[in-house]
Amino acid sequence: MGSIDAPTTTENGTTQSHAAATADGDQKRLASANGAPAEMTLESEATKKRRSSVLPLEVGTRVMCRWRDGKYHPVKVIERRKMHFGGPDDYEYYVHYTEFNRRLDEWVKLEQLDLDSVETVVDEKVEDKVTSLKMTRHQKRKIDETHVEVGHEELDAASLREHEEFTKVKNIATIELGRYEIETWYFSPFPPEYNESLKLYFCEFCLNFMKRKEQLQRHMRKCDLKHPPGDEIYRSGTLSMFEVDGKKNKVYGQNLCYLAKLFLDHKTLYYDVDLFLFYVLCECDDRGCHMVGYFSKELSDMTAIKAEDILTTLQSLELIQYRKGQHVICADPKVLDRHLKAAGRGGLEVDVSKLIWTPYKEQS
Ligand SMILES: [Zn+2]
Repeated sequence: MGSIDAPTTTENGTTQSHAAATADGDQKRLASANGAPAEMTLESEATKKRRSSVLPLEVGTRVMCRWRDGKYHPVKVIERRKMHFGGPDDYEYYVHYTEFNRRLDEWVKLEQLDLDSVETVVDEKVEDKVTSLKMTRHQKRKIDETHVEVGHEELDAASLREHEEFTKVKNIATIELGRYEIETWYFSPFPPEYNESLKLYFCEFCLNFMKRKEQLQRHMRKCDLKHPPGDEIYRSGTLSMFEVDGKKNKVYGQNLCYLAKLFLDHKTLYYDVDLFLFYVLCECDDRGCHMVGYFSKELSDMTAIKAEDILTTLQSLELIQYRKGQHVICADPKVLDRHLKAAGRGGLEVDVSKLIWTPYKEQS
């Protein structure tokens, strides 16, 4: 899974609608924009009154919020905090856009919120998408050999709530990795001393992370890695794949997990990387090998892919039949076509002759 450069994929298969605000919200904006001058003084008095009666907003409040598209969208207040340089009642709010995936939750300023739209009575029946997720067949059969990730569908309601309570506020908003600045999606459990930083600076080769740009610059002068620490098992054109053994490169493996968690909602492996191999895909130039994605594989038989897994996958894809006591692969062109279409563009083709790899054997 290309965890790093995957902002176009959706983790839970939920499609995101970046659609405009509800018609209701738009109408409200229009209404206040069209207010006649004579009514304005009155209105602003009323607004003032209203402000003081609702502020500061309570956690759980539902209100309309101006998003980056300039439109108003319904949000729920998840958390609030006092502004560093504000007065005693100046807060900023961490909000969840109820129409969107959790990855778009963010801190917003008061001026982004339309206080006229504050809902004083919270309707408990209105559920967020995140708690009313329905599992698709695809998600059900998703065989995830990457770590011990669990999707929403495998968590019961209580542990889902617990997960969301613990990870409700994104700690790191952006990261710098090589030449890129990347907006993050989710909470990641960095050591506590990093939680005050909105931005982290990663060395793109050893994946050490720092709080300040100058620290990274100093680090880059002495870091001698120019590619992931492991064996190059594939090279074709400018693309290389490296196999990194988590046991031999524990810190790298952990750093990779911290980084990946910023883009995965549910992922539980951070420290026990010993039992994993990481396959890191890089694009290489004269400056070095720049990571573009990775997947990992657990070495334990417990979670390895077994014959039954392959069987159920093929069954769910309708590509296998049971005939005369044995399984027969039946690749109906029409069915294949449907799957290919659903999968989207094919991606890069692997040139098998350029693969230099032997399956991992437990070293004694
Ligand atoms: Zn480094």
